[in-house]
Parts: sequence; C-alpha cells; structure tokens
Amino acid sequence: MIVAVASGKGGTGKTTVAASLAAVWDGPVLGVDLDVEEPNLHLFLQPGITGRETAHMTVPSVDEAKCTYCGACADLCQFAALSVMGQVILTFPEMCHGCGGCLAVCPEKAISPGQRELGEISWGRAGGVGFLAGRLRVGEAMSPPLMRRVKARLAQMVATAGGDAIIDAPPGVSCPAVNAVMDSDLILLVTEPTPFGVYDFQLAWEAFTPLGKPLGAVINRAGLGNDAIYRFCREKGLPILAEIPYDRAIAEAYARGRIIAEISPGLRETFISLRDKLRDLVKASQFPEAAHA
Ligand code: SF4
Ligand code: SF4
Repeated sequence: MIVAVASGKGGTGKTTVAASLAAVWDGPVLGVDLDVEEPNLHLFLQPGITGRETAHMTVPSVDEAKCTYCGACADLCQFAALSVMGQVILTFPEMCHGCGGCLAVCPEKAISPGQRELGEISWGRAGGVGFLAGRLRVGEAMSPPLMRRVKARLAQMVATAGGDAIIDAPPGVSCPAVNAVMDSDLILLVTEPTPFGVYDFQLAWEAFTPLGKPLGAVINRAGLGNDAIYRFCREKGLPILAEIPYDRAIAEAYARGRIIAEISPGLRETFISLRDKLRDLVKASQFPEAAHA
C-alpha cells in the first residue's frame, strides 16, 4: 500500500504527519521524500544513509560535422530546446524534457544522447523504517524527471523487500504534486483550520479528486481558526481521519525536529488510529462490495 501525504500549501504539517505515520507503522515501511525541491523528511526520521546516486536525464548532443541544419529536430521539439538559425544549431539542455524525439527524427544521425544532471537520490534506514529521498540539483528547473527516478527506485525496493510506503509529496497542486500522488493507493490531505488552509485545501481537493483515489483529511492545529474546513469536508463527503491539536508542546517538538507521535501516548494513539483508518479506506476502495456487506 502506498500512502501519499499531500497538502494544498506548505507549512501545514505534512512532513510531520508523514514521519509520525512511518514511526507507528506496524510492518515494513519506507518513508519516501518526493518533495525533491525542499526535502526535509530526513530531519524528522534521522536515517543512516547507506547509498546515494546521481540521477541524470538524456538530452541531445549534436555532432555539427554531421548536421545539415535541416531544422527537423527544432521543428519537432515542443519545448524550444533546439534552435536552428542558418548554419548554426543551438541546444538548451535546461529546457529539454528528454522525450528523445529529436534523436529519432534526425535524418543524418547527428544527434546522440548526452546527459544533464537532475540531482541526487539517497536511501537508508531509520530504525525499523526504510528511507528514500530525492534532492533536486540547485538551479534545475524541472522536478518531475527526478521524481520519476525516485519512484522507479521505490518500485524496485518494494519489489525486492515488500512492505508499504509513505510518500511526503510536494505542497501545492502543480505538476510535481500531482506527479507525487498519482501512483499512490490513497491521498491524505493535511490542512489547518485557517482561511489560508481552507482555501488551499479546496484547490487540492479539486486537483486530486479527478485522480479517482480515496482521499482523507488530517486537520493539524485543530482548535485554531474557524470551522470552515469541517463544513467543506462534510459537504464533499471527505472523511476527517485525525485531528492534531493546536498545542505548544507539539510546536516545540516540531521545532526540535522530533517525531510528534513519539512525544506522548495520546499522540501515538492518534497516529495508530490514523494508520488503521487508512488501511480500512484502501481496503474499502479495493473491495467495495465487502465494505457495504
Ligand atoms: S529530447 Fe525531446 S524535449 Fe529534448 S530537445 Fe529533443 S525533442 Fe526537445
Ligand atoms: S535534425 Fe539533425 S541534421 Fe537536421 S538540424 Fe537537427 S541535428 Fe541537424
């Protein structure tokens, strides 16, 4: 089972929920940081890193000795990553999406695969919890290609060792956020009961509902703000699976990088209950007849 922990905006407590869920999981589990632009799951899990690799993507490398400047590659590229001007051909690797179309279309075989560095993938363990994360290279504009590499490694690790995965997704509703949740079995949306939290939560609900996956909500800092988030969840039939109180001790634990499920028996129970509800939701989505029997 793969659970994606997402949020409409940053700062809602998404990573702290992901870390706490991983900490109370009662079986093999991987904590996966797909927030590759600002990875910080490791700050909570404190894993020992056992492996790293640099991830690359294929970009065109043009042999001008063979090029006839016909322009076929530039005409094909939808991202303006190649440009032919008279007897000059320019490549813009940062704009390349790695589709390989230009290599296929060149009649002179003047284009060969080159490489652009995307960032780093690392993995390891934090006690009983496996760990996997991507970190985007500074200056790299596109995160989905690196996220795809992290997800490929995740699939490999799950195929080899089995178990579940909890993904810490990037905040927001843009392409990286959708990319992070699209292969999950369930999307857990973390929000807070403030006007900003509600507004961004609505955007997240609109963005993720069409994916057709079970959705659940966690209200962080419950007791703050107003009841608009509760009304919205009720209207949309979105289950609120856990509430984390607005509490100074939690804020202090968070500020010290502690896993909040480990600071009190009550919070541990909250996350154990959340874990069990997530399992039930996934089961109900996979076997809807049994859920209604
Ligand atoms: S690989 Fe695709 S995106 Fe990159 S330059 Fe070639 S056609 Fe454009
Ligand atoms: S398609 Fe090949 S030959 Fe034509 S401009 Fe591009 S690199 Fe040169």
